[in-house]
Amino acid sequence: MRPIKTLLATIFLSAGCASDDHTVEVPQSSPAPLPESTMEEPPVSSTAGKGNEGMTTSVPAEDVPARYNALSEFESYVILKKGTERPGVGEYTDMHDPGTYICRQCNAPLYLAKHKFSSNCGWPSFDDEIEGAVQRHLDEDGDRTEITCRNCDGHLGHVFFGERYTAKDTRHCVNSVSMKFIAEGKPLPPVIKLPATE
Ligand SMILES: [Zn+2]
Repeated sequence: MRPIKTLLATIFLSAGCASDDHTVEVPQSSPAPLPESTMEEPPVSSTAGKGNEGMTTSVPAEDVPARYNALSEFESYVILKKGTERPGVGEYTDMHDPGTYICRQCNAPLYLAKHKFSSNCGWPSFDDEIEGAVQRHLDEDGDRTEITCRNCDGHLGHVFFGERYTAKDTRHCVNSVSMKFIAEGKPLPPVIKLPATE
């Protein structure tokens, strides 16, 4: 007898729970529903959490991580793998137009045309940089000082001292392919900054 009574009680309780979910009667004292235009939040549905139908997983545009400019195979070789373009072939080696040289990968302004001078070494040469734009690292061989973009760490070339080319006695020897020239009067594109990664 005992097992049957327990079973009946279970069925009764289950039925009671189920019937609560399907109550559709609205008490007459309920306030009238607000017009849709004034409702700020949709009511919580009893089916919430049971499925993702209709839910979007996209995030607002401002939260989408920025990406650096796409690089060609040769640009990647120089900028990411610290390669060097052949002397005398770079598009900016002999350029003297007024303007700004920005990083090809992240658009950070690196050098001004007034920093550029003719060294006849076969690569664009600058005797100064835009303050804080360039980072220096000693090469593994300990001989040369590599220069990179401070914002994106892209390889630019090397910096040399004591050659007496100009009064500043400094020569930033930069691959043309690491930079992009923006003529004076043209707007500089926004600098692409990525969140720091561990
Ligand atoms: Zn950069």
